[in-house]
Amino acid sequence: MSGKSVKLINDDGLRLDGRHADEIRPMKIEIGVLSRADGSCYLEWGRNKVLVGVFGPREVHPRRSQRADTAVIRYKYNMASFSTEDRARPGPSRRSIEISKVSREAFEPVIMAELFPKTAIDIFVEVLQADAGTRTAAINASSIALADAGIPMKGLVTSCAFGKVDGQIVLDLNKEEDNYGEADFPVAMTQDGEITLLQMDGNLTPDEIRKGFELVKKGCKEILEIQQAVLRKKFETPVEEPEVET
Ligand code: ADP
Repeated sequence: MSGKSVKLINDDGLRLDGRHADEIRPMKIEIGVLSRADGSCYLEWGRNKVLVGVFGPREVHPRRSQRADTAVIRYKYNMASFSTEDRARPGPSRRSIEISKVSREAFEPVIMAELFPKTAIDIFVEVLQADAGTRTAAINASSIALADAGIPMKGLVTSCAFGKVDGQIVLDLNKEEDNYGEADFPVAMTQDGEITLLQMDGNLTPDEIRKGFELVKKGCKEILEIQQAVLRKKFETPVEEPEVET
């Protein structure tokens, strides 16, 4: 959010990557890509590439982290050192700790953790390539990986950001828009539209926020349809029965 004067929307209303204000970047998803994880997902969203592995419900180490009444949900967001233009410093940072916390909280209302007391459900996110919107990409991928792991959930969580670029409210900011735009508001919501994550970077008027929410609802609906289609495809594919000799 430097506010530097770079023209990000042309006279036809198109953004640098050719999108209209209300368009999300193209999304590509693969499910079940990690054989050691209970559930996994690889997701590309524009130039973002994220990989998520879900483990559990499983025994908790250290034991003192156990809870007698529920599973503990742990979410770890990590950026590979080669994921950004400048080398990202390896290991946890203030930013990655914050993203891990708010992303875990984005899932707490939907994961039925009370069914698995004394266990842990671990969600590991590796950002392989970052181009703004990695926390939202990671939440969308985590939702699919959790479903792939068979973790009972009240529904999927979808996530997308809106922001302000060249004075206009737009959906799903890319890196140039994030760098030179005026505001970035990542949002996550349940299938029923309950907001489970809302962060703000920059200033918007109440009217602009209202408009942004209209866009983000539309974006999340599109993402939910993509997530559902991927899961349907995976779980509707009939498992081939081995031929039995008689
Ligand atoms: P998000 O990726 O969720 O939008 P930010 O708004 O914090 O999160 O970051 C925007 C983008 O800035 C990231 O997607 C990434 O491209 C870049 N970025 C973030 N942290 C770093 C870092 N430590 N080093 C280099 N680039 C970074």
